[in-house]
Amino acid sequence: MKYEAVIGLEIHSELKTDTKIFCGCATTFGAEQNTHVCPVCLGLPGVLPTINRRVVEFAIKAGLATNCKINKYSKFDRKNYYYPDLPKNWQTSQYDLPIAYAGHVEIDIDGEKRVIRLTRIHMEEDAGKLVHSGTTIKDSSSSNVDYNRTGVPLIEIVSEPDMHSAAEARAYMEKIKSILEYIDVSNCKMEEGNLRADINVSLRPIGSEKLGIRTEMKNINSFKALEDAINYEIDRQAEILDDGGKIIQETRTWNPEKGITQSMRSKEDAHDYRYMPEPDLPPIVTTDEEIEAFRRSLPELPDERRARLIKNGLNEYDAGIITSSRAMAEYFDAVVDFGADLKAAANWIMGDLSKNLNSDGLTIENSPVDAKRLAEMIKLIANGTISGKIAKKVFAEMWISPDSPEKIVKDKGLVQITDTSAIEGVIDEVIAKNPKAVEEYRGGKKKALGALVGQVMKLTKGKANPQIVNKLLENKLEA
Ligand code: ADP
Ligand code: ZN
Ligand code: MG
Repeated sequence: MKYEAVIGLEIHSELKTDTKIFCGCATTFGAEQNTHVCPVCLGLPGVLPTINRRVVEFAIKAGLATNCKINKYSKFDRKNYYYPDLPKNWQTSQYDLPIAYAGHVEIDIDGEKRVIRLTRIHMEEDAGKLVHSGTTIKDSSSSNVDYNRTGVPLIEIVSEPDMHSAAEARAYMEKIKSILEYIDVSNCKMEEGNLRADINVSLRPIGSEKLGIRTEMKNINSFKALEDAINYEIDRQAEILDDGGKIIQETRTWNPEKGITQSMRSKEDAHDYRYMPEPDLPPIVTTDEEIEAFRRSLPELPDERRARLIKNGLNEYDAGIITSSRAMAEYFDAVVDFGADLKAAANWIMGDLSKNLNSDGLTIENSPVDAKRLAEMIKLIANGTISGKIAKKVFAEMWISPDSPEKIVKDKGLVQITDTSAIEGVIDEVIAKNPKAVEEYRGGKKKALGALVGQVMKLTKGKANPQIVNKLLENKLEA
């Protein structure tokens, strides 16, 4: 392709405060329509908003965790728009003095590091939700508005147009998600819409510095949709440019059923919103001391955690996966603290544990096998009580039973056979029954050993110690 894709993301994240940004209404998701509302979030005349301090705290923490500068003097502005989902007819947001600006995060693309710059992070209120009587607004005879979500606090994280592929945009969004989870300011449940992105995509001739005309896709709430929409949009724009056409600056929607983006409306420039300072809220003044206290209160972040695991001997790839979610990283640390080997812990967590969690639709926080029992099982492999293969059976049993791995191994008779005379008996039998493989091996085809080892393992139901089997077999065959 003769174009370079240029991508910038605006990520909206709902903050996990108990109450809304400018009133005391609860933020609970999924409540009955219009039960968490009051005169303030309904925009009734004559009422005044009050800023929720928690929101400012969470926004500053998000700024610090993404290497932003914090505006010590920040203020709210009114962004005017006319739509029933915000009854005031403006959204209280931030314009020229956002709470945080000029940050960056690092992403990893196939082992290569890239820096993505953040333009700004600002605080704002979420809008309500239209509930149509039909499936879409077009085939509905009426629509209700649910104002429960109106006034739920959001931060909007705006990136510079620093990404150049769907994979980079995904890695960036994953990094932001994991940082917000680590600092515990958002639930980041994309399927509930509390983490969603507007994606801006343009193309320019390779080598050109000038930005091309962009289109914007709003409210993308899954990583798959993010990648698919970007790839589709890159192809669509390239085709238009190849034909000598012009890209129209517009807002498009992603249609996941059809796998295409569709034009929605032409895109306004900022001045159309007629931003003006919010007169009902005082500016937010933060001191250096307060900022430093917030900085000190931050936990170990994903990149630091990853570096620590690599330093302790885990490979980069595994360390990246383990630390992508805070819950998984904490589980991993616990397994290692209970005495399991680092690499084995990572393998079991990324392998059987993740597989079982996925198929049962569970998260690691409510895994039926806790860190302590997994560590005990890994130690049984390390001390030779069970083989790695048998361990898979033990693990499957642990998944459905609260018993300790020791008890399971004992009850099911799964202890590894390390008694050489017992193994030798089986080996003799296998040698007698497989003259062809024996002959091949003796004739120089060393690979034939594998088949014989396999036979021994089969006859012992996987319980023979594979190292001992190998050794004894070799000895017998070479004799
Ligand atoms: P808005 O979309 O609200 O008008 P901005 O103009 O600040 O706001 O841009 C929003 C996002 O679009 C930012 O993430 C920015 O990096 C990105 N962006 C701006 N221009 C382009 C472009 N030509 N191509 C791709 N992304 C762009
Ligand atoms: Zn309210
Ligand atoms: Mg935008």
